[in-house]
Amino acid sequence: MAFITLNKAHLFHNLDTLSAKAGGKQKVMAVLKDNAYGHGLRVMAELCFAYGLRRVAVKNIEEAMVIADLFDEVLVLVDTVSSQKLPQNISFSAHSYEMLEALVEGESIHLSLDTGMHRNGIKEDEIEKAMALIVAKKLSLKGVFTHFRSSDELNAEFFWQRTLFERAKKRIKILAKAYDLPEISFHCCNSAGLLRTQTLGDDAFARVGIAMYGYSTLHPSFTSLELKPVLALWAEKLSSRVLKKGERVGYGGVYEAPEDELISTYDIGYGDGFFRFNGLEPVAMADGRLSKGRMSMDSFCLGGDAQNVCMFDNANALAKQFKTINYEIPTKLSSTLKRIVI
Ligand SMILES: *Cc1c(COP(=O)(O)O)cnc(C)c1O
Repeated sequence: MAFITLNKAHLFHNLDTLSAKAGGKQKVMAVLKDNAYGHGLRVMAELCFAYGLRRVAVKNIEEAMVIADLFDEVLVLVDTVSSQKLPQNISFSAHSYEMLEALVEGESIHLSLDTGMHRNGIKEDEIEKAMALIVAKKLSLKGVFTHFRSSDELNAEFFWQRTLFERAKKRIKILAKAYDLPEISFHCCNSAGLLRTQTLGDDAFARVGIAMYGYSTLHPSFTSLELKPVLALWAEKLSSRVLKKGERVGYGGVYEAPEDELISTYDIGYGDGFFRFNGLEPVAMADGRLSKGRMSMDSFCLGGDAQNVCMFDNANALAKQFKTINYEIPTKLSSTLKRIVI
C-alpha cells in the first residue's frame, strides 16, 4: 500500500533553525492548517508537541478539536463563527467587525488587522470601535495579528506592512491599558517574514508553516537557512509485465515501448491527491526514473519491477513542472494515505 514518510530528524532540524531565528521555541507557532499542509494533522501535532512547541494554528474548529488536548493554545485561522462556546484553549481569528458582533460572549480571540493585503482583518480606523466591542462582549483578546501579502517577494512591501502593523500595535496597546486588559500577543510573520527579518521585535511569536515542513519560499537572492523537506511519498507495486516493442501502455496509449521492456504499475494516482500527468511530459521520481504514460485515478506506470518507489522527497521540482507553488504539492495529498514517522 502507498504511504507517506515523515522525517522526524528533518522536522526537528527545521524547528531548531526556526526557533533559533525567532528567539526560542516559545516564539514559534506551528501552522498545522489543512491537515498540516497534507503531512497529517494529528501525527505532526504530536511531533511538534514532542519537540516542545505549545502553540499551533489550524484552519477550522474541526481541526482544532483533533489536537486541542496537546497544546496551551490552538488558533483557528479561517472559520466562520460558531454559535457554540469553544474550549478555553481554542482561540478564534476575528477577521471583521461583523465577526466580533457574531461571536459568543467570552470567546477567546485573536483580532485580525488589515495592513495592506486586503484579504481579511479590520482596518486601522476601526480599531477603537472593535476594542470597545471586545470589552463590551467580554471577549478574551489573546492576540492581534496581521498577514503579509509579499513577504516572499523581492520588494519593500513587507516593510511597508510591518510599519503599519507597528503603528496599529501602539494604538491597541494604549487602548488595552486604558481598558485594563491582560497582555496581548502580537504576531505578524509567516515563514518568509521570519526568515527575512532580523528580529521579531516585541512580537510574541511567528506563525511558521512552509519552512517547518522544509521549504524556503524566499527569493533566491536572500541568503537562506538550510531547511530539509519532511515528507516523502512512496508508491507500492501492484503488478509487472513485459511490454513488447510497439505495445502502448495506459489510457490513450500515449507511451509506446521502443523495445521489449519490463514495466510495473504502482498504487498512486490523481485520486490520491497527486497532480495528474497526461503522459506527454513524463514525471521524474525521486531517483530520476521517468513515469511511462498517463496517470490513472489510482495508479501509474514505471520501468523496472522494484517493490516500492519514492515519487518525491522534495516538492520543488513537481511544483515547477505543474506550474504551482511547493505548498500545493503535499497539501493535496489524501488524508487517508498511511503516515509513517521515520
Ligand atoms: C498559512 C498561514 C501562515 C503560514 O504561512 P507560511 O508561508 O506557510 O509560513 C501564517 N499565517 C496565516 C494567517 C496563514 O494563513
